[in-house]
Amino acid sequence: MTSTLDAVSTGAASIEKAPLERYVAPAKPSLIGLSRAQLADALGDIGVPERARKMRAQQIWHWIYFRGVTDFESMTSVSKELRASLAEHFTLARPEVVVEQVSVDGTRKWLLRLPGDPDSGLPHDVECVYIPDAERGTLCVSSQVGCTLTCSFCHTGTQRLVRNLTAGEIVGQIMVARDRLGEWQRKSGSPNLRKSNSNSGKPEFDGTRPTDGVIPAGDRCITNIVMMGMGEPLYNFEAVRDALLIVADNEGIGISKRRITLSTSGVVPYIERAGAEIGCMLAVSLHAVRDDLRNELVPLNRKYPIEDLLEACRNYPGASNARRITFEYVMLKGVNDSIDDAKALIRLLKGIPAKINLIPFNPWPGTKYECSDWEQIEKFSQVVFDAGYASPVRTPRGRDILAACGQLKSATEKLSARERMALRAMAMTD
Ligand code: SAH
Ligand code: SF4
Repeated sequence: MTSTLDAVSTGAASIEKAPLERYVAPAKPSLIGLSRAQLADALGDIGVPERARKMRAQQIWHWIYFRGVTDFESMTSVSKELRASLAEHFTLARPEVVVEQVSVDGTRKWLLRLPGDPDSGLPHDVECVYIPDAERGTLCVSSQVGCTLTCSFCHTGTQRLVRNLTAGEIVGQIMVARDRLGEWQRKSGSPNLRKSNSNSGKPEFDGTRPTDGVIPAGDRCITNIVMMGMGEPLYNFEAVRDALLIVADNEGIGISKRRITLSTSGVVPYIERAGAEIGCMLAVSLHAVRDDLRNELVPLNRKYPIEDLLEACRNYPGASNARRITFEYVMLKGVNDSIDDAKALIRLLKGIPAKINLIPFNPWPGTKYECSDWEQIEKFSQVVFDAGYASPVRTPRGRDILAACGQLKSATEKLSARERMALRAMAMTD
């Protein structure tokens, strides 16, 4: 299998690798990731009469996505017979947590194992990172095992193993994070809050809600989702869309679409669909202001050049000054970090409701790039700031947080200050 992959992935000219790993659904499927209609159909398959399906699906939805139960036995409003039948045919399985790392500031990183391809025998692992802040808690979610694209500065792009995640595996990452953070609401209708024992008077969730490190104010640990983990979300459009619609559903996890950001390397034909069919916030990995350089950094640019990409951004449904598009720009020493580049960036984005996120490059073994010097990042950021854009790297918080999403490949190394800074930049801090 891998020999075919070698043929398409080697050489500077390649834009993409074919997804070669197979997804084989478990014999007993998980209900996680099904839409309400699919859930009703699944109930039909196990003999629930048509007239009861909608109501039953509604009840089960509540148990899965509002209460976060992990077994059918806990669904006390569902009849005993139906519970038994559900348990016979389905599971509520989430991705398996293989490694959990917790940083002193409360940041957590999970290595998750998904069903592998029986042909290759290789495990399918993805990472998911939780970044808490005083005002928000951001979860960085993966859309693919590896990535079919081959951006030259990205570690994930060098990974040979590639497959799309299912909608269930994408929602499953959020479920796992909520499980581990003790964020489920145990009582119907109202969050299961209790007064903190500390003097802060802040409400807290029961369960294992963390008490160490930074904890976002309010009653939620996870307030924001960024599709910035492994993979190109717009190359797995349907699964990402279905998953995000579940995550945004008000009668379940209920994270507002304004707090969900999808990051793309620029898959132009799907940008409009993302706006129309998901309605989430958009982040675009721009990284260069000229096509010749962007062709090298983000080879997909050869298919969808800067002008087409920016045109798609101009037309992004719902974009406005209140709902700006984020442009990500990785700072590569001597490559894209000159003052002229900064000025060209401002010119290029004129007329687009934009935010600019400067990301310090995270080096990885074997890369030919280096991160720009801090001084240069400051100068670049000053040009951006003077043009009226808030510039997140100007306010480093120096907190101890984990590896940057763009680096998600190696699981458990210790993280450098630069990695922490890059992750901070990607946490979409305003
Ligand atoms: N595939 C999507 C989303 C995942 S990557 C995309 O490319 O937008 C999330 C962000 O991390 C992207 O902006 C990506 O360009 C950036 N990134 C990748 N590798 C990086 C690295 N080594 N250092 C800093 N940022 C990186
Ligand atoms: Fe894929 Fe994004 Fe990495 Fe490019 S930057 S290889 S699109 S994950």
